[in-house]
Amino acid sequence: MTKIFYKIADIQAYLLQFSYKQVGFVPTMGALHAGHESLILASKKQNDLTICSIYVNPTQFNNPEDLKKYPRTLPEDIEKLEKIACDIIFIPSNEEMYPKNPSLTFNFGNLESVMEGKFRQGHFNGVATVVSKLFHIIKPNRTYFGQKDLQQTQIISLLIKDLSFGIELVCCPTLREKDGLAMSSRNLRLNPQHRNIAPRIYQAMLLAQELVFSQKDINFAKKQAIDFLSQEINFVLDYFEIVDCQTLGEINEQTEEIAICVAAFLGGVRLIDNLLIKR
Ligand code: AMP
Repeated sequence: MTKIFYKIADIQAYLLQFSYKQVGFVPTMGALHAGHESLILASKKQNDLTICSIYVNPTQFNNPEDLKKYPRTLPEDIEKLEKIACDIIFIPSNEEMYPKNPSLTFNFGNLESVMEGKFRQGHFNGVATVVSKLFHIIKPNRTYFGQKDLQQTQIISLLIKDLSFGIELVCCPTLREKDGLAMSSRNLRLNPQHRNIAPRIYQAMLLAQELVFSQKDINFAKKQAIDFLSQEINFVLDYFEIVDCQTLGEINEQTEEIAICVAAFLGGVRLIDNLLIKR
C-alpha cells in the first residue's frame, strides 16, 4: 500500500527501517502524467523502495504568475501513484521545506549561463536548493530525472558530483504524445487551438536533426528550424539552440552527442523540449 507523508520528521522516522534497502527517488512538481510515471516505473525496477515527492517549489519560479498558474492536481496524482504502486509519496508544505529563506547560493558556471538559466534567472539555484534538501531528507541510492529537462539533469549531475551525494543519477527518455508533443504538466494549460499547433516544436527539432545529418551545417539547420517555427505566429521563441549535450556549449571535435534544445511560449504557456543526436 502507498504511504503518504507530509512532514520531514515522519518520513525520516519511517525510512529508518529501510536503511539496508535500495531506495529510488523521483522528485516532481505534481500534475503527473505518463512521463512522470515512467520515472517511477524505472525506479521500481531497480530499487526495493520507490519514493515520489510532489512539491511545487516556489524558489525555482522566476515568474510569480507562472507559479500561481502551475497546474495542481493532487487527488488525481495520489490516485495515479497508488495505481502504479509507488511505495511512498512525500508532499511537504512550504513551511516544512523553507522554515527560513535559504542563504546559500549555487554557481554552476557555464552550465547555467545558457538557455533555461539565461531566460529564467535564479531558476537553477532554486532547483539545486530544493533537490539538495530532498536528497538530504530522503538519502536515496538512486534518483530519476527526465531527459525532457536536459539542462536540469546536467545541473543535478554536477550537484551530485561536486557535493559527493553518492547518489546514482538515472536519466530517463522523454515520453511524447502520439503527435510528438513532449508530455508536460504545462500542456494542461494549452487551449485546443494551441494544443493543435504545439507539436510543431517537435517537428522543428526533427527538421534540424535531418539538416544536421545531411548538411552538417549547424547554423543552417538552426536557421531553417527557427524559420519553420516562426511561420506559426502564435509561437514566441525564447531560444532554439544546437549544442554539445554535455557542456551545453558550442559543438567541437570532442562533442560525442549533440542536443537540439527549444523553449517557446504558446499562448502564454512556456514549453521546452530537446532531441539528442549521437555523433
Ligand atoms: P516536473 O514535475 O515537471 O518537475 O518533472 C519531474 C520529473 O519528470 C523531471 O525529472 C522531468 O524531467 C520528468 N519529466 C517531465 N516530463 C517528462 C516526459 N515527458 N517524459 C519523461 N520524463 C519527464
